[in-house]
Amino acid sequence: MCGIGKFKVLWGLEASAACPRCGDFEDHLHVPRCRAASATAERGRCTAAFSAWLDLQLTGPSIKTAILQLLQGVHTPTLSPLRTISSSVRPAYLAQQVIGSQGLLEGRIASSWLPLQQQHYDKIRCQRSVSLWASRLSQQLILIGFYMLEQRNSIQHLDDNVQLRERHSTINEGIHSQFDMGPDDLPKEIQPMLTSRRRVLCKSLVDKEEWLKLLCQERKDFCRSMKAQHRSLGTIFSPGP
Ligand SMILES: [Zn+2]
Repeated sequence: MCGIGKFKVLWGLEASAACPRCGDFEDHLHVPRCRAASATAERGRCTAAFSAWLDLQLTGPSIKTAILQLLQGVHTPTLSPLRTISSSVRPAYLAQQVIGSQGLLEGRIASSWLPLQQQHYDKIRCQRSVSLWASRLSQQLILIGFYMLEQRNSIQHLDDNVQLRERHSTINEGIHSQFDMGPDDLPKEIQPMLTSRRRVLCKSLVDKEEWLKLLCQERKDFCRSMKAQHRSLGTIFSPGP
């Protein structure tokens, strides 16, 4: 958050604290609240992906509604009517409001969500770990904050170096697809490289390129060796002439 307008002016790096997307005064909370069309589009993309993720994790419907409303409250602080929040999750919702918008995008979630999600898992007879759900939820919220900042930075540097931005974007897409493919087609010793998407995305461009090159090569080699194994097994077990 330190590369934003307000801090750059304080450090004498910039003459203006204007947001590069909309021109308004930019402090840390402006980044997720910016009303520029590009920021709104990125927010829409992040929210839709997050909503799908909450479903995938079998999040309780009233918990999902409350968390999405809290996220909406980061962008539009005046729009957070309590009446739409189920009474059973209101204490957790209010505890999360106390932690605040910035805390939410830093992945600090109220502990009161956990027993509520546990109740939901019990109700649907799901054996999943509620601690894991909470830790993944926290990571997802951090990612949303990260993507909003990344989108803002991409606009900032648009005029500076279009080529560099394209390189970043291509590499980031490659990194996302590696994480989406998962660790199954990789040797065991390489699998830990897919532990944290955020950590990889935060690396320098050169490091990200090295990371991606290695992963692509390892995946290719692993597939080739698996095919060779299958072929040799086929030869051993195939009926003779
Ligand atoms: Zn703005």
